[in-house]
Amino acid sequence: VRIAETIAQVREILLPERRAGRRIGLVPTMGALHEGHYSLIKKCRTECPVVAVSIFVNPLQFGPNEDLDAYPRPIEEDLAGCEEQGVDLVFRPQVAAVYGDSILTTVQVRELSEPLCGEHRPGHFDAVATIVAKLFNIVQPDAAYFGEKDYQQLVVVRRMVADLSLPVQIVPCPIVRELDGLAMSSRNRYLSDEERQQAPAIFAALRAGAEVIARGERDARAVIVRMAERIRAGGATRIEYVSIVDPRTLADVAEIAGPVRLCVAAYFGSTRLIDNLGVDAGGSEH
Ligand code: AMP
Repeated sequence: VRIAETIAQVREILLPERRAGRRIGLVPTMGALHEGHYSLIKKCRTECPVVAVSIFVNPLQFGPNEDLDAYPRPIEEDLAGCEEQGVDLVFRPQVAAVYGDSILTTVQVRELSEPLCGEHRPGHFDAVATIVAKLFNIVQPDAAYFGEKDYQQLVVVRRMVADLSLPVQIVPCPIVRELDGLAMSSRNRYLSDEERQQAPAIFAALRAGAEVIARGERDARAVIVRMAERIRAGGATRIEYVSIVDPRTLADVAEIAGPVRLCVAAYFGSTRLIDNLGVDAGGSEH
């Protein structure tokens, strides 16, 4: 695996690949790689002869009271993992290599950035859209791989690409879970043993929601109440939101008449976890 720390190095390494017309795939990450990330890398490998992975903990997408400093950065393990996966290029810049002294330009995907996580993390999706746009311009990938784990991020990025006519194909990838259903996340390592035992309650609640819909419930409010009860019973310290939204607009749905996305953010101890599940009106999950 070749490692680039500057934009110039990325361009130099990828220039011959681009000239040779080889398809370049990008997997943007914040590192602390796990099987969720590796599933994106594997999918990218099957579709692209050149696989680039970015590892960048983007400070601008963290709020003032969030875990920027505590965020895990096991770079040697990550590089070994990328090597093992046959990644061609890892871009792991320092903050200054990406932003210089400052940045005055941002990309904002209105509306889609406002509900769900956006309501609780002001400015988060502007920072996400901006760094993703920058990474697309730095790497100029033909395709980029995003996990449904961060469903709102996927929707925001897709819309940015459509609105700005960016020449990159966005490839969504399914959520990878632990055996007990907990969605894999770099933040799971913050959980105490007890919290780790409790955290699968989030997925249990999503499944319970899907089940209630399968049994014919059409009132989103009633499904949300049922899901919130399950999360609370599972030991969550705090529920940030339980929402049922339109999978394209992310607007709250009152009556479940077509495909919806069940979305949850909840704290176990001081660790904030998110998860989601696609459900159609018949209750089948996707
Ligand atoms: P992160 O490093 O958390 O910014 O995630 C980088 C990419 O990996 C994003 O597109 C995430 O949605 C994706 N990802 C993270 N966890 C998972 C997971 N459990 N399953 C699938 N994709 C994931």
